[in-house]
Amino acid sequence: MNKRCYYEVLGCGKSASIEELKGAYRKLAKEFHPDRNPGDHSCEHRFKEINEAYDVLKDSQKRAAYDRFGHAAFENGGGGRSNGFGFDFGTSFTDVFDDLFGEIMGGRRGRRQNRGGDVRYDMEITLEEAYAGKNAEIRVTSAVACETCSGNGAEPGSKPETCTTCSGAGKVRAQQGFFTIERTCPGCHGRGKVVRHPCKTCRGSGHVQKERTLAVAIPAGVEEGTRIRLSGEGQAGLNGGPAGDLYIFISIAPHPIFQRDGYNLHCRAPVSFVTAAMGGAIEIPTCDGGRAKVNIPEGTQGGAQIRLRGKGMPVLRGGGMKGDLYVEIAVETPVRLSRKQKELLRAFDEEAGSGTHPESEGFFAKVKEFWNRAEEA
Ligand SMILES: [Zn+2]
Ligand SMILES: [Zn+2]
Repeated sequence: MNKRCYYEVLGCGKSASIEELKGAYRKLAKEFHPDRNPGDHSCEHRFKEINEAYDVLKDSQKRAAYDRFGHAAFENGGGGRSNGFGFDFGTSFTDVFDDLFGEIMGGRRGRRQNRGGDVRYDMEITLEEAYAGKNAEIRVTSAVACETCSGNGAEPGSKPETCTTCSGAGKVRAQQGFFTIERTCPGCHGRGKVVRHPCKTCRGSGHVQKERTLAVAIPAGVEEGTRIRLSGEGQAGLNGGPAGDLYIFISIAPHPIFQRDGYNLHCRAPVSFVTAAMGGAIEIPTCDGGRAKVNIPEGTQGGAQIRLRGKGMPVLRGGGMKGDLYVEIAVETPVRLSRKQKELLRAFDEEAGSGTHPESEGFFAKVKEFWNRAEEA
């Protein structure tokens, strides 16, 4: 189905201000509201369209995404680029509606209980910690229920009183044309209660900022960008609503030896040309703090990769499964040679016969052919 442009739906230009959009939305939503047009399916469709358009355009982030990517910004997660903007029409519809009109026909919900906000905490760990997992303690400051008043905002000895404007309902109703409009009570901001003697500790808000220490178990195998959620450890809710969540965003410090690629680790190990030629063994560190012996086969060339199975990173919640460690061999050319060493190498060179340097021999054979052909032409 071809979707109409959201701006077109609201009859506004692309540069319309939020006030213009809101005005257009109000007008159209009233006109096409199903209660005013019972049984008219085209009106119902328009009404949904209007709500969807306004829901996107009223939100500056969603609007920016829509301006850039069009409707594609909101299709099933939007193919990566619009992550975070995807939304569910079914629920946002109600939210939009509550925003502007309050709850039509009343009584679907009780007093507003607001969930507290989510909190982000950034944590940098070392690669070794990501390898082994870690029990960390973090200190976070967030809103918690005030102890002095147990979160109700009233000075001890007094109690919040029932709001006289709304008789405790948290909402007031008014007749407006065809609608019975309910809106949040202005006397108590939807709480249904009014605090006459505000608690001195929290100034009547019912919560205070508090630093807390939380224990966090970082599982083995976490990666850059892994998020760990501590449910209910975010900001305290309002009016007894649930607290938000705390999200720990993991980042991993660069390591002096290892580079990580998913479950696998890479490192570079220099080897003398003598060891590379004659074979031998070297020892390299592993991420668990131990050592691993790497056998260098005779005649190893620079750039060769040697794989150590199971010496990579653990797979997150992978039941002990681990990736591999790739060791890239760097053959080192010796420098600052003594006279004796030079003599020995000269002697070695004179001794080196055909077949000692197959790559060079192959290469120079091709070069010779090339020059021959160039001369013939
Ligand atoms: Zn208090
Ligand atoms: Zn009230």
